[in-house]
Amino acid sequence: MDSTGSNGWSHDDHTPLSKWQLSSDILIAFAYFSIPLELVYFIYRSQVFPFRWVIAQFGLFIVLCGTTHLLTLWNYISNTKSSHICMTIAKVTTAIISCGTAVVLLRVIPELLDVKKREVFLIAKTAELDLEVGKIRKEEETLRHVHFLTDEIRSSLDRNTILNTTLVEISRTLKLESCNIWMPKLGGEVLELKYKLGYQEIPPFMIPVIDETVRLVCVNAGATVVSSGSALARLGCLYENDDGHVAAVRLPLLSTASFNCSPKIEEATMFAIMVLELPFGRLQWSKHELELIEAVADQVVVALSHATVVEESMQARDLLIEKNIALECAKREAELAVVARNEFLAVMNHEMRTPMHAIIALSSLLRESKLTTEQLSMIDTISKSSSILSMLINDVLDFTRLEAGSLCLDPQAFQLSNFLKEAEELVTPMAQSKKLPLSMAIRGMIPSNVCADSNRILQVFLNVVGNSIKFTSEGHIKICVYVEDADSESMPSELSSPRREVKHMFLHFNVEDTGIGIKASDLQRLFHKFVQADSSITRNFGGSGLGLAIARKFVELMGGKIRLESEGLGKGSTCKFFVSLGVVTDLESETLISPKKLQQGSDLLGLKVLVVDDNAINRIVTHRLMETIGCKTTVTDSGQKCLEILMTAGPGAYQILLLDLSMPEMDGFTVTIEILKRFKIGERPLIIALTANSDAHTRQRCFDVGMEGVLTKPISLEMIKIELSALLENFKYHGCSS
Ligand code: ADP
Repeated sequence: MDSTGSNGWSHDDHTPLSKWQLSSDILIAFAYFSIPLELVYFIYRSQVFPFRWVIAQFGLFIVLCGTTHLLTLWNYISNTKSSHICMTIAKVTTAIISCGTAVVLLRVIPELLDVKKREVFLIAKTAELDLEVGKIRKEEETLRHVHFLTDEIRSSLDRNTILNTTLVEISRTLKLESCNIWMPKLGGEVLELKYKLGYQEIPPFMIPVIDETVRLVCVNAGATVVSSGSALARLGCLYENDDGHVAAVRLPLLSTASFNCSPKIEEATMFAIMVLELPFGRLQWSKHELELIEAVADQVVVALSHATVVEESMQARDLLIEKNIALECAKREAELAVVARNEFLAVMNHEMRTPMHAIIALSSLLRESKLTTEQLSMIDTISKSSSILSMLINDVLDFTRLEAGSLCLDPQAFQLSNFLKEAEELVTPMAQSKKLPLSMAIRGMIPSNVCADSNRILQVFLNVVGNSIKFTSEGHIKICVYVEDADSESMPSELSSPRREVKHMFLHFNVEDTGIGIKASDLQRLFHKFVQADSSITRNFGGSGLGLAIARKFVELMGGKIRLESEGLGKGSTCKFFVSLGVVTDLESETLISPKKLQQGSDLLGLKVLVVDDNAINRIVTHRLMETIGCKTTVTDSGQKCLEILMTAGPGAYQILLLDLSMPEMDGFTVTIEILKRFKIGERPLIIALTANSDAHTRQRCFDVGMEGVLTKPISLEMIKIELSALLENFKYHGCSS
């Protein structure tokens, strides 16, 4: 850098060389000053560069180098002392800075190397991150597709719509060539091509589930790329490409049965399979595409299970509706059957009683005439047989009504002691006829006025005592009656009346006999219909096996119980039963039913009776009955004629009107209403229905329209006397009769 060499060589001596040096120095100085500027620019722009101060030091070093070159230039031109001094200062400074820079660089180089390492690492990391971001983006994209598909697929709860939408949407998203779904058939033994994108009519292709590819797809939880030669690919796809363009995924099908206990996809026994085909020429499914297929398949499975729940609940609902309709029909039919049965019963009741009436009434009339002993015995047999038949008819009809629930109690207030006396009076002659001593003891105090269906209590009593008499040939019959306080809640509601203060009691009957006895194993069985202890019973004692069954039904209807007790065969038996009673404490005496008096009918002599019946035989029978009793009888065959006779005869001409209820044109009820309209009380006869309809409803209706009494056919001479006398007595007592 010195302009004068040690050998005394000067600038002027080598002018061309000096010029070259001069120009080089200018260029070096320019370069030395421009490099720091570039470094400053670099430092300014680089935000993360860690060694700024080193660069600054390096820049300063370069500037100083540049300065020394400039000073060399100056020295070259002026060669003064001051230029030398400046040159020296510059050189010293440059030496310090350059040595400092060298030292600093020594220290910094490892660090710089480290930074480099970090940079490489960072570059690698950035690349990785880029990959990750790419993946995330792809996943997001997949998710977006899946969301979109899911929304579309799940927008329906109909299996067909779900599967068709799946085909359309997945094909659009993945730009597929074809897509189809195979559904299980024949209990899952085969798969049937059921849905094919763009096809309405699907060829009837089937693949057994034991097919190798099908099994492979089914055991694999994810999407499986299947061979293009497999049945799944061949039958459903459009192109015969090389392997790799067809993928399949299983769709587990859950049924509602699987929902009972937390369902697991792995436990699904039925599978559908979705087969997807890439466009012609593409032979490779990307990982991302396969993932998308799997994600969609999962969503389809969820949608299908929802659809299954809905489908099956709809089916269950339809089934329920069908069942309800069937039940409704069955109910209607049953109701119609009940109506038909009731109608049949009513008709049979009427139709059977009418001829029975003729037989019983006429045989009782015949009995009154002059007969030989043989004829008398024949008439007795006819009477007995007909009353057995009549009882059987009554029993069968009662039992049928009880079973159908159409028989209602008819509770009335009555005097209990009189009732018991009457009951005893009825059974005593029966026992006497077999020379059996019968005693009836009333234990403790009994209420005087009670409310219950006395007829039904009497019916049960007669049946039970009748059995004791029937099945006892020697010994005795002992009847014990007592009452006991009852729990009011166990009382049948019809025995209570809001108008009366009613206390509830149980009326107990124990009927003990010394008859044939009963085996322990038969004690319960005998209360079933048509059951007798053994087959010899009918032969030896008669009966139908209905009496106890009816008795039990009546007793239960009256809030009580009945049971048989026996030590065994030959050891006699005891029948115990009780029924609920309403004890009437504030009853007015006139509301009580007067006991039927067993009169001989002398008070009926000479009474004027009008008999109205459309049935010719009945007219003859009733006419004969009334004539035999001693009444003056007029008969007519229609309601209209009855009214005419009464109108013509005038007030008080007839004391009794015996009126049939079922007559054509004008029935007994209408006739009664007409009579009540036309005659004042006291001017008309007592209107008494003589009917074959024995049900409580008909009876009640008779009283409701204003009749004074009801006689039920069949009726014997004896009974008609008793009944008519009781009625007359009752009405005389109340001052109603003319
Ligand atoms: P029926 O008397 O018409 O046969 P029941 O229903 O009244 O029908 O009686 C059923 C059966 O119970 C009778 O056939 C008889 O075998 C048995 N039975 C009822 N009461 C007695 C009794 N007091 N002693 C012995 N057996 C009886």
